[in-house]
Amino acid sequence: MSLQRALPAPGPTTRDDTIMAHPQYPDLPWIEGDLIIRPEVLADVEAHALAEYPSECCGFLFGPEGEAALLDEGKREVNEADKYHRLDPETFPRTSRTYFKIHELRAARTLDEAATAGRPLKVIYHSHCDAGAYFSAEDAATFAQGGALTWPCAFLVVAVEGGAITERRLWVHVPGTDEFRESSLRVE
Ligand SMILES: [Zn+2]
Repeated sequence: MSLQRALPAPGPTTRDDTIMAHPQYPDLPWIEGDLIIRPEVLADVEAHALAEYPSECCGFLFGPEGEAALLDEGKREVNEADKYHRLDPETFPRTSRTYFKIHELRAARTLDEAATAGRPLKVIYHSHCDAGAYFSAEDAATFAQGGALTWPCAFLVVAVEGGAITERRLWVHVPGTDEFRESSLRVE
């Protein structure tokens, strides 16, 4: 997935270690991770990953604006990788088995509508097939460019290996870099 939204330039990083707000989005604390997911929401993400296997699945997680850490709603999205691969295999050499591509216009619209409704899109999730739930170089290149985050959210990766869920990990952007670090995700 390659996309470029108009973004503010990353601001200076704060020296105050107690305030870890992301300089691009200081008002969106879920970008920093340490999130809580309702068990039924995670169950649906994992069911989605299993249903799409051996293709990668993708989707969104939402929660109330007033409870920054909480994820209490999911929405399955369509992985457009195969469609793009069929239309333009040179530009998009990878299929849904090793790649996911979100419908960018719908994602942008969902992001705006969710924010307006007070139910922000906090996480983009996707699955890896027969690989771990690490944040791949491709994932990092998609979600950070020039030190800036391309979508204002955190990222959940679910691993499906041999047809079973083997791990799930939450990843957040390291401001000013194109790298991501792991963060905690509690199920409750
Ligand atoms: Zn990935």
